[in-house]
Amino acid sequence: MSNDNKSPAAAPASNFLRGIIESDLATGRHASRTDANGNPLPQVITRFPPEPNGYLHIGHAKSICLNFGLARDYQGQCHLRFDDTNPAKEEQEYVDTIIDSVHWLGFDWNDGKNQHLYYASDYFPMLYAMAEYLIGAGHAYVDSQTAEQMVAARGDFNTPGRDSPFRTRTPEESLALFRRMRAGEFGDGEHVLRAKIDMASPNMNLRDPAIFRIRHAHHHRTGDQWCIYPMYDYTHPISDALENITHSICTLEFQDHRPFYDWVLERLAEGGFFKKPLPHQYEFARLNLTYAITSKRKLLQLVEEKIVDGWDDPRMPTIVGIRRRGYTPESIQMFCERIGVTKSDSWIDMSTLEGVLREDLDPKAPRSAAVLRPLKLIIDNFPETLVTECSAPVHPHFPERGVRRFPISRELWIEEDDFMEQPAKGYFRLYPGNKVRLRYGYVVECTGFDKDETGRVTAVHCQYFPDSKSGTEGSANYKVKGNIHWVSAAHAVQAEVRLYDRLFADPHPDAGGRDFKQALNPASMEVVQAWLEPGLERAQAEDRYQFERHGYFVADRKDSKPGKPVFNRIVTLKDSWAPAKG
Ligand code: ATP
Ligand code: MG
Repeated sequence: MSNDNKSPAAAPASNFLRGIIESDLATGRHASRTDANGNPLPQVITRFPPEPNGYLHIGHAKSICLNFGLARDYQGQCHLRFDDTNPAKEEQEYVDTIIDSVHWLGFDWNDGKNQHLYYASDYFPMLYAMAEYLIGAGHAYVDSQTAEQMVAARGDFNTPGRDSPFRTRTPEESLALFRRMRAGEFGDGEHVLRAKIDMASPNMNLRDPAIFRIRHAHHHRTGDQWCIYPMYDYTHPISDALENITHSICTLEFQDHRPFYDWVLERLAEGGFFKKPLPHQYEFARLNLTYAITSKRKLLQLVEEKIVDGWDDPRMPTIVGIRRRGYTPESIQMFCERIGVTKSDSWIDMSTLEGVLREDLDPKAPRSAAVLRPLKLIIDNFPETLVTECSAPVHPHFPERGVRRFPISRELWIEEDDFMEQPAKGYFRLYPGNKVRLRYGYVVECTGFDKDETGRVTAVHCQYFPDSKSGTEGSANYKVKGNIHWVSAAHAVQAEVRLYDRLFADPHPDAGGRDFKQALNPASMEVVQAWLEPGLERAQAEDRYQFERHGYFVADRKDSKPGKPVFNRIVTLKDSWAPAKG
């Protein structure tokens, strides 16, 4: 997979799908289609078809960016369609979060004239009518074998299947049974409607696949109207055709399903239900991301076993989790663009995603100071009542964004590891006798420190040089190697800061079917009480900052209160997960 360092160019990188679309546009393949009112249809209509049975994750984001992105780039339209044909596992909660997530990623199914939001369950009557047609035309039959008999007769890759004894039922017999299935006369699994194709086909998906099954279950949208439900592989091509989809894009595991997709549409086109050109299915490689899991079932397990704090835990690869973590929609779009689209499965490294995120945040995020692991610094020669103002750019590369002002006083908070009693080799920060610059403030010289009875350093003492203030003429006379950040103890804002890291310590947490819980990173979250630059108490939920020297942080959208933000670490400034060099 291409995973190079191309910049997020305005013109999207080409890929095989763009190639196909451009060639279809050149030949006018879909040029003469009109809608029911005779209006011309766009030549590119794609769809994103989630099943509302879980929360969307970063893998779905790839499919969303791809489908909506192609529609945008080729003046087409993209539909959001809920593939809600399985009554048992689907819920309104999931519909709502999926709608929210697609919007948050920056896409819309409203093309200015129409809302292209669809539900496969709205097609149940048509799916039913088409099934009756297929029965009448001799392309489908009701099978009354037990589930076990059906499995046994299906054969396997090396053995052809055996015809069901019910395969020779006349269309009239099958139709009568199918209507009784619908009327609720049978229990679950007593009969099933199957396509009549070829039990000896080398493609297992063509061995008379089921198209309707009995399921006495309540559906989140159709209620108890139906007790038979269409199968996914039958519903999908028909939904695509009903919506005039031109390019039906899905992941590689559906490649073997394509012959059935085409079979369904061909038969229904023969029956006059659809006109050609029919929608065509194209497959691309799904996104696999290291240090993450993208299986709905396993993500559910993390939530249910309370290994994480819900679907939107900022360590989750769900869209709601990524959003709460502080990722921007732009960074996700840029990431999906950059990793490209291919036809062979591979892994994308988490550091690629984090790199794009930093690239997006760096120019956007205002700078600020935050002391995450506080240690008191006392400037002994600073007058007790004196408070003076320091200033720093909001953003070093964009002076037009102005300056931030914050006070300095006698007692400050500095980072614990900006002081060492005995300096290690190459350590330029505070230690007795050494001078450092307090970023945007004065140069100070360390004069000593206090310890408690356990030997822990409780405060560091220093002297400041009044003529060394940053931005004044005198400052140039001081040359120091260390530059540390700080906040004035009397003025700083205390806040909870959650230091998130990767949820898994292993790049392939669920490789080879192993228990992914063994791969959890024990240090994926640390909560600290930090001291922040004054003014940060006004941060609104989802405001993002660069805390200088630490990384990017966001005011948590759930737990921040007015005047009392809680911050999440989005990502550190540098990739500390890179493999050790040399
Ligand atoms: P399930 O196992 O429940 O079917 P799913 O991940 O396939 O899970 P869907 O709701 O069916 O979930 O997926 C919606 C769309 O997102 C599908 O078109 C699917 O191909 C695509 N998709 C899902 N996972 C990925 C992924 N990792 N990379 C790219 N596309 C994905
Ligand atoms: Mg699926």
